[in-house]
Amino acid sequence: MVERIMPEPFRIKMVESVRVPDKNEREEALKRAHFNMFGLRSQDVYIDLLTDSGTGAMSKQQWAALMMGDEAYAGADSYFHLKEAVKDILGFDYVVPTHQGRAAENVVFGSLVKKGDVIPFNMPFDTTRGHIFNNGGEPLDCVIDEAYRPEVQHPFKGNVDIDKLEAAIAKYGKERIPLVMVTITNNSGGGQPVSLENLRQVSDVCRRHGIPLFLDAARMAENAYFIKAREEACRDLSVAQILKATMDTADAITVSCKKDPLVNIGGMICSRTEELHNTFLPRVILFEGYATYGGLAGRDLEALAQGLREMVDEQYLAHRIGQVRYLGELLGEGGVPCVTPAGGHAIFIDAAAFFPHIPQSAYPADVLSIEIYREGAIRGIGLGALAFATPDETGKIIYPKLELYRLAINRRTYTNHHIQFVAQTIVDVYRRRDSVRYGLREGYSPALKGMKHFLVHLEPYDL
Ligand SMILES: *Cc1c(COP(=O)(O)O)cnc(C)c1O
Repeated sequence: MVERIMPEPFRIKMVESVRVPDKNEREEALKRAHFNMFGLRSQDVYIDLLTDSGTGAMSKQQWAALMMGDEAYAGADSYFHLKEAVKDILGFDYVVPTHQGRAAENVVFGSLVKKGDVIPFNMPFDTTRGHIFNNGGEPLDCVIDEAYRPEVQHPFKGNVDIDKLEAAIAKYGKERIPLVMVTITNNSGGGQPVSLENLRQVSDVCRRHGIPLFLDAARMAENAYFIKAREEACRDLSVAQILKATMDTADAITVSCKKDPLVNIGGMICSRTEELHNTFLPRVILFEGYATYGGLAGRDLEALAQGLREMVDEQYLAHRIGQVRYLGELLGEGGVPCVTPAGGHAIFIDAAAFFPHIPQSAYPADVLSIEIYREGAIRGIGLGALAFATPDETGKIIYPKLELYRLAINRRTYTNHHIQFVAQTIVDVYRRRDSVRYGLREGYSPALKGMKHFLVHLEPYDL
């Protein structure tokens, strides 16, 4: 049953035309892109759900804030506006901007990780994984087992398994664990939330062992919204209060501000102590820019400060999360196997269940990307073996447990009618799934551990 849908809590003031390329144009575009969704041009796409990163619509208040940018190199007013917003909304005293989330990761992991270190996570996002590898460390998944079972219902599938975390600390010791990180919501595991109770438990474990707790907080407002909806003890708190309480569990956070903070570009590192903040500054200056602008223009900092205040608006969040759920419900009604319950920013289709006749080594999630693009010029992305399979010490390929295809919903961008079209298109592909009898192999493949799917060229072959 599709729940009653919430209409858009905004009206449209400026339009951006999009067109549906015809069948021939789509085939040509696929060839030009080497069958990789990242290779398509935006004009080849009708509805673009590749990512919800930096693709949302800013409010009129944010556009107005752009005009207030102070472009001083050091100590700009705009930086102090950001600092105030961070203190008000998140409670951290220290913030350094970065040009986006992975830049914050470069600074944090480059400053704190040495060769042989292990970083326990629920699950790391792909760029996070990449930065840890790049600094000689290893991320370690400690998410609860339910996260690996797309068909199982659990309100907080992003939770850390406390026993796994304790075991990791017992095994590697504080000397090899410079920090613990929890991704909220858990993007790689289907945009699944982490409960406040679980974060408090993780925080206690970390404090007991003297290990700092970091959050990868790209989707912190959505996580807080889920906590309000699903965690009994938090039902009567506002999303803003829950978000603050969430932040209270952590020593520091990295944020891709292209996600919940509602800007098209930007990132930041927020921390609780001057000592930790200072640890990051040399690397910020080396890679990003001076500490009060970190690779962003003053106007970007203004838009970000405003976006942080808007992201906790409960009507906005109810519509956004409702729209994602609506897509999940429509797909579910059509029989399409999805990760349940729906996540905050995206619907993840279980590509292994969608195409059970395509082996994981033939990249079923990426075959699904191609077929959905063919059917309706809709762009999503495969997140399975192509993205995450890695050889072990003996060279044997270790395949990821999940073979997912993601439809990320842009913030304040598409209407519920767009969502209906997406669902219809995918249900049509599902009905003809048995006739899809090909796999993909790699042509050009870059040496980029954990992230080659951005650049790889693919070639279809008959199965
Ligand atoms: C997007 C994202 C990142 C990386 O941020 P960018 O702004 O794309 O560099 C890191 N972690 C999570 C959870 C993300 O969703």
